[in-house]
Amino acid sequence: MTTGNINVSVENIFPLIKKFLYSDHEIFLRELISNATDATLKLKHLTNIGEAKGVTYGNPVIEVKIDKEGKKLHILDQGVGMTAEEVKKYINEVAFSGAEEFLEKYKDSAKESGIIGHFGLGFYSAFMVANKVEIITKSYKEEPAAHWSCDGSPKYTLEESDRTERGTEIILHINADSEEFLEESRINELLVKYNKFMPVPIKFGTREE
Ligand code: ADP
Ligand code: MG
Repeated sequence: MTTGNINVSVENIFPLIKKFLYSDHEIFLRELISNATDATLKLKHLTNIGEAKGVTYGNPVIEVKIDKEGKKLHILDQGVGMTAEEVKKYINEVAFSGAEEFLEKYKDSAKESGIIGHFGLGFYSAFMVANKVEIITKSYKEEPAAHWSCDGSPKYTLEESDRTERGTEIILHINADSEEFLEESRINELLVKYNKFMPVPIKFGTREE
């Protein structure tokens, strides 16, 4: 008898994620907004328990912006952000859920925090509609901002960014098959569908809900 581990390589799994993770490509927006919501609620929780010293929580919003000409969709939040190390840990490790880890760490106090999470493939659903994804993120911790970029091959780049505001901006370079997501009416429809009951207000165009 032989036993062994089945070998899953990123090169094999990445195209699968992109094509088949969800039959419904539109859910990328729900995933990214739930991450933005989680990031905001994490900050709220950390300020509540006194772990985010010097941070004023304020009235954070999540913003969705279309750049039609540049064929880009931006999702911005004012949540916890990520340090470069956290990007490596949470983004570069496909299927590792940071949300789960956070809930585990703050087990007792975070039960009611509303953090959503999933099972750790959420962020990668962005590659169903984008041929390149960028993350510009600044942690609430005193560390320089980071700029991550990946064109859908398993290779990524990570460098320092001069962003100074706390939070995260996700930039999707929308692919040719997904240009519907550069239409205001389409995004609006999805925001209404997925985010009616979201705890953090979402700003889109001039509208806030
Ligand atoms: P999950 O939400 O289940 O943890 P995801 O793949 O959606 O899995 O995201 C992986 C991790 O990346 C998150 O848990 C979080 O730590 C980090 N992350 C993703 N988006 C953001 C964001 N907008 N702000 C801060 N951290 C983020
Ligand atoms: Mg998620």
